[in-house]
Amino acid sequence: MEMSRVYNFSAGPAMLPEEVLREAARDMLDYHGCGQSVMEMSHRSAEFKAIIEAAEQDLRDLLDVPAGYKVLFMQGGGNQQFAAVPLNLMKNGVADYIVTGQWAKKAAKEAEKYGKVNIVASSADKTFSYIPDCSDLPIDENADYVYICENNTIYGTKYHTLPNTKGKPLVADVSSCFLSEKHDVSKYGILWGGVQKNVGPAGCAIVIIREDLIREDINPMTPVIMNYKVTADNASLYNTPPCYVIYICGLVFKWLKSMGGLDEMNRRNVEKAKILYDYLDQSQLFKGTVEPASRSLMNVPFVTGDKDLDARFVKEATAAGLVNLKGHRTVGGMRASIYNAMPKKGVEALVHFMEDFEKNNKR
Ligand SMILES: *Cc1c(COP(=O)(O)O)cnc(C)c1O
Repeated sequence: MEMSRVYNFSAGPAMLPEEVLREAARDMLDYHGCGQSVMEMSHRSAEFKAIIEAAEQDLRDLLDVPAGYKVLFMQGGGNQQFAAVPLNLMKNGVADYIVTGQWAKKAAKEAEKYGKVNIVASSADKTFSYIPDCSDLPIDENADYVYICENNTIYGTKYHTLPNTKGKPLVADVSSCFLSEKHDVSKYGILWGGVQKNVGPAGCAIVIIREDLIREDINPMTPVIMNYKVTADNASLYNTPPCYVIYICGLVFKWLKSMGGLDEMNRRNVEKAKILYDYLDQSQLFKGTVEPASRSLMNVPFVTGDKDLDARFVKEATAAGLVNLKGHRTVGGMRASIYNAMPKKGVEALVHFMEDFEKNNKR
């Protein structure tokens, strides 16, 4: 069968490295001579134990995770963490949230079920097109944590400086910038990410948590599968984990190492994003929607200002093998997600296509 791969600009689930997909295909029927696929094997088997342990170690190596942090593989994706964080961390019953988009807003709304939520900063006034100054926020002295969404997948903004939390633990949803660059883990109480954006297939969230935040005396209504202590004490194997997803994440970690690690990924991501932003900054037709100082390297929203023209652009791009460029339904326009697995050639192909489209649609 003739194979034709597209450049997939989806925000998630998103592109995976082709090398990883090929390796998974090679392993599909017979994983390393054990006569079965990873999908079929027991999560208690020696083979799977080796897979999850290697995945954790490779992740620790990539991020230089300091001693005193646990790595948890949990099901339920991002939305489950919106609930798990307040259930596990609210001791005083208070948390401060910075709202920079839909995902932070949803997280705050979920947390309101379990305690008092203060919105200490927001960029809603300008449709979330920037990251507010977070150097001196009115942090509640009883706040159990300060919560951010570090890279705003929908609006295309990213914190380039972490907030001053005045000593409170920082909890960050890093779903859409996870492993795009080196995070200094020691600055976080928790950083967690749904893996389907930049790390692997859908079905798992990875939680990196400082051990002192893992407590026994948590909200007694916490479902056991959301309990960080139970998950940590059982090395993410309390119940059946998303085995195949963890296996693919492990292959991605090995791929990242083979590429030179996260500093090299960051260099590539900066280079790729620059190609697109430089074009947008001089285009007469397309316009980026984010304040330059808050731009994300991962998600790049842009518009023409004309809905019909936007729709035609998306349609023609799709026909040219540049797919999933439609913006989020709440924003409109276009969005190009250019995660680790998007090659530079894919971004160049997009920019060439945009140049041609601009020439053919002079206003
Ligand atoms: C996609 C996304 C989520 C939601 O993840 P689900 O796994 O679909 O629940 C949360 N936060 C961010 C930043 C995201 O990009």
